[in-house]
Amino acid sequence: MSDEAHLDPNVPGNPAYHFTIVPPGTPARAGWASRAGLVPSAGLATQCVHAGVQPDPAYGAVMPPIYQSSTFAFRDLCTNAGYDYTRSGNPTRAALEEAIALLEGGQGATCTSTGMSAIVVALNLLPRGSHLLCTVDCYGGTFRALEHARSAYGLDVTYLDLADLDAVRDAFRPETRMVWVETPSNPMLRLTDIRAVVEIARARGALVAVDNTFLSPVLQRPFEHGADLVVHSTTKYLNGHSDVVGGAVVAPPGNLAMLQRIQSMNNLLGTSQSPHDCFLVLRGLKTLLLRMRAHELGAAAVARFLEAHPAVARVHYPGLPNHPQHALACAQQRGFGGMLSFEIRDGRRDRVDHVLATLRWFTLAESLGGVESLVAHPASMTHASMTPEARRRAGITDGVIRLSIGIEDPADLIADLDRALGSLPA
Ligand code: PLP
Repeated sequence: MSDEAHLDPNVPGNPAYHFTIVPPGTPARAGWASRAGLVPSAGLATQCVHAGVQPDPAYGAVMPPIYQSSTFAFRDLCTNAGYDYTRSGNPTRAALEEAIALLEGGQGATCTSTGMSAIVVALNLLPRGSHLLCTVDCYGGTFRALEHARSAYGLDVTYLDLADLDAVRDAFRPETRMVWVETPSNPMLRLTDIRAVVEIARARGALVAVDNTFLSPVLQRPFEHGADLVVHSTTKYLNGHSDVVGGAVVAPPGNLAMLQRIQSMNNLLGTSQSPHDCFLVLRGLKTLLLRMRAHELGAAAVARFLEAHPAVARVHYPGLPNHPQHALACAQQRGFGGMLSFEIRDGRRDRVDHVLATLRWFTLAESLGGVESLVAHPASMTHASMTPEARRRAGITDGVIRLSIGIEDPADLIADLDRALGSLPA
């Protein structure tokens, strides 16, 4: 047998290799990049897989490479390949930004190191002397950021129930510049009618920012209802695997000026996301639709079970027909999501502790939106930074337990809850 017979024709460098080697830097072949134009009109599952991603022009890598470089070479003083420094821009981050913007139907996005830094980027758009309206039961970290902005920079904030549209109208002042919406809210799953709030705000020259973390663009697209900004903690559903912290701010369609403002604010504050974390979120996005379907299937089953349980006083899940805003959920959302909270009867701390200690499939942990189910006690965890008075106004009593339903078999989760609730101390 000749030596040549042993040569693997698939290994570049072997004389038998029968492909033409495209030198790095050669523009992508027509066909490689041709999918990009198709993605915006494709179905949601197709968008999740292909948005922002096309074979890498250098070697045809199917997943975008992790461009783990802080800086990029200039060819000469006037020429570079589109990137100069990773805080300002990075090809891996650009792929994720394109994907998130596409899924949200926005003009573009900027990806941040955490969900909190996305919130900070958005708040920094406000001019000095601004007044902001915020949903009363916002995420505790948002409350903390707003209170910090109040004491450090003089931002004036009014917290209110955004479902009460008369109260929203009354709360407006000439200097009101932004309404901060979280719908559904964390942890009480209250909804805000985005379109109605946008109508009020637009007539008064204020922006509406929507934190879309709880539903993801698969289940809710705030720009379709007129929102001016969408914010995400990509730590949650968009990544979906509890192994990254990240965030995104998305500019509305047709608003290039807003895109440039959020991009330069992210660069200025130094809050942009690392290439490696962007890669992981991009990987997570591919299964977003599949995961959201599974989360919702489990959450609906768990909510129905809890609703019928004698030890449960109330269940907060917009998918239940008796949720006070079920009709709004059906009109505004494409599904009900995987988050719910419930209140145990006689919600004393020892009874709450018993539930938390007895559950086996639910991990007691902060965060949400991962494939594994989590349980949290908002009053002492996610919303501990709120004052007791603010928690009381938001309805976050000591008996409230929040569940992030993962993608496990719903029957296992229900059996776990049944065991914990069935053995509560009297
Ligand atoms: N927005 C919501 C609705 C959240 O629940 C969270 C975190 O739990 C954040 C923003 C902040 O995100 P991160 O923890 O990624 O900073």
